[in-house]
Amino acid sequence: MPILPNSTFYASFSLMDDILLSDRNIDLRSETTYQDHLLSSVWSLVKAAHENSSYYQQIWKGIWDAGSASWDDFFKLKPADKSLLENNNVSIKRNNIAYYFLTGDTTEKPKVIPVTKKEWRDRNEYRANCYRLANITKFDSVWIALPFGPWAAGHSSQHAFHILESNVLPAGLSNDQYVMRYIWNQAKQMNINVIATTPSILKFIESSIEEDSLIPIEKVIISGDRVSDELRGYYKDKYNIDLLASYGSSECFVGMECQYQCGYHFDPNQILVEVVEPQNYLPTELEGSILLTNLTSEAIPLIRYKVGDRGKVHYQKCRCGSDWPRLQWTGRDSDYYEISGGVNLHTYQVEQALDRLKLKIQKCDVVIKDDNGGKDLIEFTVFFNEKDVSTQRQKKLLTKEIIQAIRTLSLDFNDVMFEGYANVAIIIQAMNKDAPPQEKKVEIRDLRKFRSSGV
Ligand SMILES: [Zn+2]
Repeated sequence: MPILPNSTFYASFSLMDDILLSDRNIDLRSETTYQDHLLSSVWSLVKAAHENSSYYQQIWKGIWDAGSASWDDFFKLKPADKSLLENNNVSIKRNNIAYYFLTGDTTEKPKVIPVTKKEWRDRNEYRANCYRLANITKFDSVWIALPFGPWAAGHSSQHAFHILESNVLPAGLSNDQYVMRYIWNQAKQMNINVIATTPSILKFIESSIEEDSLIPIEKVIISGDRVSDELRGYYKDKYNIDLLASYGSSECFVGMECQYQCGYHFDPNQILVEVVEPQNYLPTELEGSILLTNLTSEAIPLIRYKVGDRGKVHYQKCRCGSDWPRLQWTGRDSDYYEISGGVNLHTYQVEQALDRLKLKIQKCDVVIKDDNGGKDLIEFTVFFNEKDVSTQRQKKLLTKEIIQAIRTLSLDFNDVMFEGYANVAIIIQAMNKDAPPQEKKVEIRDLRKFRSSGV
């Protein structure tokens, strides 16, 4: 076997130490992402992708060897990134595609995710299995408070809860607190005890129902934004609610926390979760960049797909009894921030948007704060040469131009501004023309109480 993660990852891991120490009586030889019995399915996916996708032909040019079939050969394959999700990268006949979803993305255009019927069924069944792990049963009543637009999460959750035969209120969400309160009253009549939502929408629900209490809720299944320990503690202390987070995106649902909240359990026969060194994409026993290979992907095979996150995989059997390993999320590969509405804000996006302005900016400070009703306030303070902003009229015109530029950060961000999932403020400031050149043109600071910083 090649370089494989092994038992040395017992080293140090504060949160799970108790659990790890109690479970050492297991067969360490079986503890690896790279199981031999998976090789044939991995390579049939890889070979089909190379045969049918010009994307993979291009990124594996010069390294492709038709005779490859080992894990060492697999490690040589250059990882895919988001550019894989261009519409023309479909690897199957178009009439086999049953659904199209969009994924929230970092560029101006959304990425389209085509899905076959089989993929959709596999994904929802897998998601249902993950919800089982979170002890969701047919006796639960679930309010799905997720967007039901062209994004996959709401629809996929609904299918998964139906598979479990839970009672489901797929009421989506509204930006209007009155409507949210109305939905909440319906939810109470249905004896809802579970909400599937994102942390920011949960805060919005909480603020919309005013004095009424979330006490009837036992669990919240979280997708989208990351959940901080403070946020978990807050809902546990105040309402005795467990926040159980899932991990994944429109392109791939990866896994789910169990009641012990010690990483995202995932089925290693379904998703190959690699943790690699970012420089050479070789497996590491330490924490590293996460690559995903979705063994059931068809329309766009997902092979060594870079999600932009860092993490570590733990193989010890969990106290919950599941054999599935657990992915511990440790941070971001790049500097970006999740804002309410489940949208990512990247430093480079702001730089690109401001580059489009007719006037040259001196610098821009972006501060993300907590606003009312669980929403974020994103405050852009943009500095210009003082001669360019000496009149109110100049400032007004510039503000208009900046708002226009910020709207084009991404389609998701445009939604955020249009639908009001987050509030945006633009402040124009004059900077003395003799001021020294700024080292960093755009700086983002996250001052929100319940969020950790982006990295
Ligand atoms: Zn567990």
